[in-house]
Amino acid sequence: MFEYRNGELYAEGVRVADIAEDVGTPVYVYSKAHFESQFSRFDSAFSREHVISFAIKANSNLAVIGVFAKLGAGADIVSRGELFKALKAGVDPSKIVFSGVAKRDDEIEYALVNDIMMINVESEDELNAVDRVAKRLNKKARIALRVNPDVDPKTHPYISTGLKKNKFGVPYDEAYDLYLKAKELKNIDVYGVQFHIGSQLLDTTPIYDASKRIADLMRRLMDKGLEFRVVDVGGGVGIVYDEKTEKEPDVNLYAKQIEEAFEGFDIKLVLEPGRFLVGNGGILISRVIYHKTNGQKSFLIVDAGMNDLLRPSLYNAYHKIAPLKESSLGVIKCDIVGPICETGDFFARDYQIDDVPNGECIAVFSAGAYGFTMASNYNSRPRPAEVLVEGDRYRIVREREMLEDLIKGEYL
Ligand SMILES: *Cc1c(COP(=O)(O)O)cnc(C)c1O
Repeated sequence: MFEYRNGELYAEGVRVADIAEDVGTPVYVYSKAHFESQFSRFDSAFSREHVISFAIKANSNLAVIGVFAKLGAGADIVSRGELFKALKAGVDPSKIVFSGVAKRDDEIEYALVNDIMMINVESEDELNAVDRVAKRLNKKARIALRVNPDVDPKTHPYISTGLKKNKFGVPYDEAYDLYLKAKELKNIDVYGVQFHIGSQLLDTTPIYDASKRIADLMRRLMDKGLEFRVVDVGGGVGIVYDEKTEKEPDVNLYAKQIEEAFEGFDIKLVLEPGRFLVGNGGILISRVIYHKTNGQKSFLIVDAGMNDLLRPSLYNAYHKIAPLKESSLGVIKCDIVGPICETGDFFARDYQIDDVPNGECIAVFSAGAYGFTMASNYNSRPRPAEVLVEGDRYRIVREREMLEDLIKGEYL
């Protein structure tokens, strides 16, 4: 939904340079049509009953959550704040699942009061906490255990979550006993099983392997009288950041493998895609401030920084970057960096790009997931605006922060 026409970048029917002019930079630009088409591709890959609970930590703008809520999606949340936003955006509570490695009592209470689908419990301590809070509220809490299946997702170590050495989930070998214990707790309703092994998976085989391990665990537990109503297979389906080296995973194969692993089980599937739904539906637009050369090295210094888009600094992640306007200035090799006082403040290193004059803009592609949601005010920089494009119109869905926002709630 982002493409060049007559040498200029368009988001659907809107010239991106017009947005940069009107709204200023840096600015995140999202394509509603891309979100909708990704949702529909994912949704139609499955043939059995399922709920798509959008992992809103990938992009929690109210309008973006709202696009998916309208399509019938639920939400995968990881905090009280995300539950608040999901409810505000109109997500049906019965399609909300609560993930995260350590939920506080107040978060558990907020989830129970709002009667969400289920809480994904990650340890025995947490199971006891959910039981205790549910008892106080005179409720029965629907839960799944997040089981750590100990399979290698073959992705970046920082976004790998399903190995024994990771902090996430209940170890596979302990899950059996903990389920038996959960069954005995008065205020716990054992509702499902969940796992999530990592993010940006380009090969879905590890999810298939994990599914088979989970199905085996379920069979053994069903022999003991447990009844499962949902299986939540997490998220993690990857996207293409770099066309030269990456290939998009086959979502139809992914769906087929999961359905095969859980064939014969009378359950509903829950899916928690985040990045897949939004990643390539967003770009970050930034203006070139200066060119600079230090000895051998050339720098393109732009007005967005690691506080606006953290992924390159945090994961050494690759993002394609290109000028909004195709230029004839020739290719330069440079580091594309922000103005932040950190050596780690870069978007690309030794990158070949058509030269962009000072004052003109670049687009950082594939910034729709874990972009704005990871933005901060580091260096006292107001966070960027967010814009949603729909056809040949666009609207601001989050105002650019102002200087006053930087001191909101602070006292001298
Ligand atoms: C982050 C996360 C997701 C979404 O991951 P993606 O790679 O964005 O699809 C889903 N479920 C859980 C539990 C998560 O922590």
